Amino acid sequence: MPLYDYVCQKCKNKFEMLRKFSDSSPVACPKCASTEVTRKPATFITGGDKHKHHPHWPFERG
Ligand SMILES: [Zn+2]
Repeated sequence: MPLYDYVCQKCKNKFEMLRKFSDSSPVACPKCASTEVTRKPATFITGGDKHKHHPHWPFERG
């Protein structure tokens, strides 16, 4: 399930919400309850950071 970032157009509050792909019901700002919110691109919650290090990175040698 993707985590979406929203920005309220009324009070400029930024908040995150987990939504199903199929869920198209309006999102209300938790601060002012306005539904004038803009959704930013989804961030997927993943646990792995496998590609953080490159053990065989071809670094310069002495
Ligand atoms: Zn708001």
